[in-house]
Amino acid sequence: MSIDINRYRESFKSHLEKSGHRDPASQDNLINFIERELAYFIKSHFIGNLESIYGLSKADFFNAVMREIALNDTFKAEDEKHGGMLIKSIKVYTGFLGSKWHPSRTKIKLGKGERKKNTTAQPQEAKPKPVIAKKIKLVEGAILQERDREIHKRNPKLRELCIAHYGNEYRCIICEMNFVERYGEIGKEFIEVHHLNPISETDGEHEVNPATELIPLCSNCHSMIHRLEDPSDWQLLKTYLADQNVTNE
Ligand SMILES: [Zn+2]
Ligand SMILES: [Zn+2]
Repeated sequence: MSIDINRYRESFKSHLEKSGHRDPASQDNLINFIERELAYFIKSHFIGNLESIYGLSKADFFNAVMREIALNDTFKAEDEKHGGMLIKSIKVYTGFLGSKWHPSRTKIKLGKGERKKNTTAQPQEAKPKPVIAKKIKLVEGAILQERDREIHKRNPKLRELCIAHYGNEYRCIICEMNFVERYGEIGKEFIEVHHLNPISETDGEHEVNPATELIPLCSNCHSMIHRLEDPSDWQLLKTYLADQNVTNE
């Protein structure tokens, strides 16, 4: 399915116009940068077969990209190379995704509000669901890659020492879940180990202190901690989870 680039570009211009970028030349500059450089950046780091920047329509994806950038020196360097334009353009594009000018948004609004019955886009109205599902899958890919690397390429001795440091209990230090208590025999000695200094920031071999840099986590808490802006702040997640449990009771 090819993308109607002109349609997106016109909507994008309307969004820029209404969000303070009134100068047509600066609109064009931003749009050109986003269509070329940002698309190239996403293509080379996240989605190899990206057809056009407008093929991405899920704000969550951009939030994931933003988190990666905050964590990763390579991305920071690339942004510096572009004089900060990369991060700026991600923010601008994310704004467009969340705005009422984005074509996908307009479609949903019309469907729900029943303001207008006839638009040329009618036949496509049934399609948004699978498209969104596809993008969500991509988001998970980006996050999981990092987690997978972390779980599987770790020195087993360090893992062992981390678990020992926490009393060989194989217990999640955030939710206190233990896999044997929950799942029985099959959960014996299962626990994931999370790196408090993101593995992507470290090059090659380096010394790791298993007592201060690693923590044992269950798979749920491990997934959730990677959604934090600062994935080393496990105390925050613990407090947040405790608050959450109180609210739910
Ligand atoms: Zn947990
Ligand atoms: Zn982790």
